Amino acid sequence: MRYSRMLLPTLKEVPSDADVISQKLMMRAGMIRKVAAGIYNLLPLGLRVVNKVEQIVRTEMNRAGAQEVLMPMVVPAELWQESHRWDEYGKELLRIRDRHNRDFCLGPTHEEVITDMVRREVRSYRELPLNLYQIQTKFRDEIRPRFGLMRGREFMMKDAYSFHATDESAEAEYRNMFDTYTRIFERCSLQFRAVEADTGSIGGRFSHEFHVLADSGEDAIASCDACDYAANLERAELKDPGFAPAGPKAVEKVSTPGKKSVEEVSAFLGVPQSSLIKTLIYETDRGAVAVCVRGDFEINEVKLKRELKAQFVRLADDDAVRKATGAPVGFAGPVRIKAPVYADFSVKGIPSGVTGANEADTHLMNVSPSRDFNATYLDLRNAVAGDECPRCSGRLVIKRGIEVGHIFKLGTKYSEAMGATFLDPEGRERPLIMGCYGIGIGRTAAASIEQNHDEFGIIWPSPLSPFDCEVVPVNVKDEGTVKVAEEIYSKLTARGVDALLDDRDERAGVKFKDADLIGIPVRVTIGERNLKQGMVEIKERRSGEVRLVKVEEAVEELEKAIKK
Ligand code: ATP
Ligand code: MG
Repeated sequence: MRYSRMLLPTLKEVPSDADVISQKLMMRAGMIRKVAAGIYNLLPLGLRVVNKVEQIVRTEMNRAGAQEVLMPMVVPAELWQESHRWDEYGKELLRIRDRHNRDFCLGPTHEEVITDMVRREVRSYRELPLNLYQIQTKFRDEIRPRFGLMRGREFMMKDAYSFHATDESAEAEYRNMFDTYTRIFERCSLQFRAVEADTGSIGGRFSHEFHVLADSGEDAIASCDACDYAANLERAELKDPGFAPAGPKAVEKVSTPGKKSVEEVSAFLGVPQSSLIKTLIYETDRGAVAVCVRGDFEINEVKLKRELKAQFVRLADDDAVRKATGAPVGFAGPVRIKAPVYADFSVKGIPSGVTGANEADTHLMNVSPSRDFNATYLDLRNAVAGDECPRCSGRLVIKRGIEVGHIFKLGTKYSEAMGATFLDPEGRERPLIMGCYGIGIGRTAAASIEQNHDEFGIIWPSPLSPFDCEVVPVNVKDEGTVKVAEEIYSKLTARGVDALLDDRDERAGVKFKDADLIGIPVRVTIGERNLKQGMVEIKERRSGEVRLVKVEEAVEELEKAIKK
């Protein structure tokens, strides 16, 4: 491709509405342009990268035995009504009406459409298992579209759905997809972790998110420094440390006028925050409960809701707190409280703690959880760096991640709701067992930039690079330069190397800046001075390493550098 013919509008300025580095660089490198919030044009350079990701995904999915299909983006409401998601999905589902006043939506995901497709075609266990995937445009009316392709409203997804006669088959396919995703993200040269995304009733083993590790990630991930355990912060399991032996002193009431927060009480009484038994009152569908955690930790409401098997949990308002504790907000404690007490494991480790006395302006000191109150102990808090790994004796570290893929064992949720059944070997009608597996194509491309850039621009790993190699004649007014550059370019092209020839009549500085910005891994610079010695210069974008090679050997050397 000739640069002079290409729509490749690079920008010197950083666009003001870009928040993360990948978005800034994709805009500056002329890859994307915004059409509306969360809706983008992909320019030629951008599409080349997206196509690379797509091709890796397609190759590996096919290799894994999945078959590609293509479903419509516009989906009739009836299918979504059958699964009840028409009412449940909320505002992310963009609903539209056709000229006959029929309701449709723009598909944000395709469980309904695929389940409908399969229930019409599959009759018998003999036709199973089946894994069908598509690479297709999704629409989700995200409340906060941002970060360019990373959280768009319209975006490309690879979504796969598998159908099985038995649990074992569904679980085998889950592992197959786990391995396939691992290969896909490895081939994209990403640093990633497979993260346990669910520890609910079907078990953490059957929902994993694949996260690319990057500071700009929206999710916090706890991962072990010793084994490959990793989980969403809200899912990370924490161990029960057991009770610390009670301290020698008896419980003592102290006056703490106006001291309500952990900070205030700890400063006032001169005790560390880790000695406080922080107690919060929550309202749930089963009434008010007191929830305790060590003063320097945070209660995790996702865990709380799950562990309590509650429909909802929310912090009680002032009145409800007064009702539950008999005291104003800030003085709740587990000792002699009317509400049932649920405490995080961390509370067990406090030998002699401080807690509210359920009385205005009063706290209790020397409170021992093993001696002074009863509670149901559960895993209720956020993991923090240094917590023990639930799988080994390693320590957890907290990192940020970008979710690029998600695999999930669905079970029979959709097949039961939509009557998608098959006949088993005994001739009985059974609901199909399903799995679903998604990858964000654009998000993966963007995540790669988050991990591969420097102050000058993008540094593409070769599998995702829009071109294999860039050929830069320094001065296109010099005939000798142009001749050599054209020769190298056409030889490369003939050998199947996808090369970009910067044939623009621009200053060298402009060309080099643009080359660094768009980040093609290997570049060859043809300049008059080196040509006099019969040499051209090869530069690797990542290392910045520069070397001179003979003109005759340039193509071979470039091919070697590209393959590296
Ligand atoms: P998130 O929590 O980031 O909103 P999700 O859980 O809604 O993601 P899934 O429904 O599992 O995502 O979709 C599968 C994949 O599609 C995700 O792993 C992600 O890579 C991609 N994806 C989801 N939402 C978006 C979006 N708004 N823009 C770009 N890619 C997205
Ligand atoms: Mg989402």
